[in-house]
Amino acid sequence: MQCHYCDKTNDLRPYGPKGAMVCFSCAMETPERKAEMERNFATQLDAAGPMALIDGTNVGPYPAEHNPDAMRLMGPNTNSTAPGAA
Ligand SMILES: [Zn+2]
Repeated sequence: MQCHYCDKTNDLRPYGPKGAMVCFSCAMETPERKAEMERNFATQLDAAGPMALIDGTNVGPYPAEHNPDAMRLMGPNTNSTAPGAA
């Protein structure tokens, strides 16, 4: 995985054109890219739902139910409707 604009391969975020991975400095390089990043971020945050998390990984905001640590904090029964839950 590499930045859509440069050769950077770490600290990428999926906020480039059509969700392309971009590094922060490239994403902020022009007003157009910055606006696109903010738009994509808002879209993904919205899609992630009311319990969206943003952590130190490269995935951007995502539903809390996909994070085992968050589920543990919220109690053992919050994931009982998930497919395959015992
Ligand atoms: Zn870059």
